[in-house]
Amino acid sequence: MHHHVPMRVVVIEDEPGIASFVSQGLSAAGYQAVVASTGAEGLAEGLDPSTSLVVLDLGLPDIGGDQVLAALRRKRPDLPVIVLTASTGVPDRVRLLDAGADDYVTKPFSFAELLARVRARLRSGQQASSTVITIGELTVDVARRTATRAGATAELSAREFTLLEVFARHPGQVLSQQQLLDLVWGYDFDPGSNVVEVYVAYLRRKLGSDVVQTVRGAGYRLPS
Ligand code: CA
Repeated sequence: MHHHVPMRVVVIEDEPGIASFVSQGLSAAGYQAVVASTGAEGLAEGLDPSTSLVVLDLGLPDIGGDQVLAALRRKRPDLPVIVLTASTGVPDRVRLLDAGADDYVTKPFSFAELLARVRARLRSGQQASSTVITIGELTVDVARRTATRAGATAELSAREFTLLEVFARHPGQVLSQQQLLDLVWGYDFDPGSNVVEVYVAYLRRKLGSDVVQTVRGAGYRLPS
C-alpha cells in the first residue's frame, strides 16, 4: 500500500471562492486536491485513473453537472462522486441519487460536513496521506478521531476534533480566525462570530491551556 501517496480528489466547481475553500480544506486534510472550473476539464480529470473521488458542482458553465455525472458513471462506475447542490427539494435529491451520485451536500455547507462525507466514501479504500499526527506530547489519530496529550485521551466533539486536526496539520503556523472559520465552520459563516475563540477555549480545557497559543492580532498557533 502507498500510504505516503495522498489520494487525489477532483473538485469540479466554477465559483473560485468555493473551489479554493474546498481544495484548501482537502489539502489541509491530507488529500491531493485538483480544481477543474468547467465540466469538460472536470470530466477529463475525473476519468484520470489516479483520481479517487470527485466533488461535483451541478451548475457549471459548459456541460451540465448531471451530464458530467452520467459520463463519469458510465466510464468509471466505482468512482465515488459527491454532488454540491443549491437545491434542497426532496425530488431533486432523489433524482441525484438515481443519477448515480453517492452523496450530496447542500450549499451553503461547512467544510467539516463535506469532509465527513469524503471520508465516509473513501473509508473502504486507501487512507489519506497520514492518519496519525504526532507533535510533541500531542497525538491526533485522524482515522479513529481520537486525541491524546501526554498519555491522556480527551473526549472531543466532532467540531472540536476538526479544529484540532486543522491545527495539527499546520504545526507552528499561525492560522487566522477567518482561515479557521472557513476550514472548520464554512465559507459563509458570520465572520464577526466568536465561535473560534470559544472552541479554542474548549480545546484548552480538554487538552491543556498551552495546547494552542494565541498570537495577538494574527490568530492562533499549535506550537510545533
Ligand atoms: Ca456553479
